[in-house]
Amino acid sequence: MRTMTQQIVDFKKRPGVIRIVGHRGARGVFPENTMLGFEYTLASGVPLVEFDVVLTADDVPVITHNPTLHKPTFQDQAGQFISNELPIRSLSFAELGRYEVGKIDGTTSYGAAFPDQAQVAGLRVPALAELCALVKQPRHQAARLLLELKSDPSLTNMRSNFVAQVLRVIRDHGVAGQTVLHSFDWEILADCQAQAPDIPTSFLSIASNSEFDLPDDIPAHVKAAGGALWCPHFQDITAKDVADAQRMGLGVVVWTVNAISDIDQMIDFGVDAICSDYPERVQRRLSDRGLRWE
Ligand code: MG
Repeated sequence: MRTMTQQIVDFKKRPGVIRIVGHRGARGVFPENTMLGFEYTLASGVPLVEFDVVLTADDVPVITHNPTLHKPTFQDQAGQFISNELPIRSLSFAELGRYEVGKIDGTTSYGAAFPDQAQVAGLRVPALAELCALVKQPRHQAARLLLELKSDPSLTNMRSNFVAQVLRVIRDHGVAGQTVLHSFDWEILADCQAQAPDIPTSFLSIASNSEFDLPDDIPAHVKAAGGALWCPHFQDITAKDVADAQRMGLGVVVWTVNAISDIDQMIDFGVDAICSDYPERVQRRLSDRGLRWE
């Protein structure tokens, strides 16, 4: 039995407190997975940040969502949104740094989904090391990282190296005690537990369109697999699912909850934490309902 580490306590509700997690920083407000977005989220008084990590050709863990460049959010050196989604794994960190990621293409459905997102020149894909250095600063000692390992199921043979490279950065910066390792790929989480038994794991699930097979009783499976958090898509759960998982000792973190009516429903369901592209919107609902976050 794993002991409950402080970073897991910080993802769990307590009387009067429901946690807020900034999704990709605060994707609805600032460019996703950028240092600006993380700084904004932390400055807003939301210490829990979710983000996505992949590996470059030269084994640098970087913060970006897809295993490839992403047409609606990557601009080339001419300032044009890209037309070719090269694999991140084919580019060195220096080569990746030639692209800007501070704007979103409003002519795409993806861009249209975030009409309020700030458009900022000069932002690059950050190395994981940059975010670790930020949260290591004394003023951010309350910050917690929900670090999603974006595994590409076709690259199973590189799981171990991916985990090792991510852990090396976390250890080098002394932020293991602020980190939770998070993934849809439960095999990579087993690798995380083997390589870093001191860092808790968080199991993502989505019932539809999943690349990964899901067991019937997901919370029981997560518990048996040594997980600390279960992170279902918010439309997949009932209040009973939440209560059942919590009774097993799991924290329940739902994603990605952006509409006020959905935020209210998740509060009513009794979840531990709400992961949102609009963390300030969740703050406002909690405030209006006489609740707090921390
Ligand atoms: Mg993610």
